Amino acid sequence: MDMLYPRACVGCGEAAGDDFHYLCWNCMAGIQWIRDPYCFLCGDPCYGMIHGQYVCSLCRKALPSFDMARSAASFAGALKTMIHDFKYNGASWLRQDLSSLLAACVRTHWPDSDIDALLWVPLYPTKERERTYNQAMLLAMELAGLLHKPLAGRCLRRIQPTATQTHLTASRRKANVHAAFEVAGGARIAGRRLLLVDDVMTTGATVNECARTLKQAGAAAVYAVTVARG
Ligand SMILES: [Zn+2]
Ligand SMILES: [Zn+2]
Repeated sequence: MDMLYPRACVGCGEAAGDDFHYLCWNCMAGIQWIRDPYCFLCGDPCYGMIHGQYVCSLCRKALPSFDMARSAASFAGALKTMIHDFKYNGASWLRQDLSSLLAACVRTHWPDSDIDALLWVPLYPTKERERTYNQAMLLAMELAGLLHKPLAGRCLRRIQPTATQTHLTASRRKANVHAAFEVAGGARIAGRRLLLVDDVMTTGATVNECARTLKQAGAAAVYAVTVARG
């Protein structure tokens, strides 16, 4: 198939490499990986010299409901294009490349994790129908396969058609998603250690609200992993 239809890099259109299906070496090398130092709780990168465990001012102000959140790379460059195409332009074939970043992130930060199951940030049903798929669900499904962990299924539901968060401030984002989720009846949440998957995390308001809902339903732990950090 590659001979007939050579795979092109999503970032620049040149021939894609072998390690990533749809990124060339140059675009892959341009990815801004998130590395130390970052907030121990929310994983937000910070700059400068920091010794010991660092917790950012936002997490100190209001302790997040998730136990820990981590992202693989900054939401920039070819990765931004890739996520955009995956989310809005129907490029569902990019899920393998994006999930391999998630898997590397999980294995790095929680190498001996006792995660019981994976789940994803749900979309409001009409939005999911419009888009025909939930990009976070595709990522969670792929990642579950890579980590050999089960999916928790559709146990989290979005019950409010929240406005897009893109142009909102941090406090507006928090208010926007407040009480936007519920745990589906009969879902097995109590006592379980869950890994929540999404594509991008910006202020963490959405992931935090999901975690709050899951914790209220008795989840023992909620970790969150996203491909990118906005
Ligand atoms: Zn490229
Ligand atoms: Zn933080």
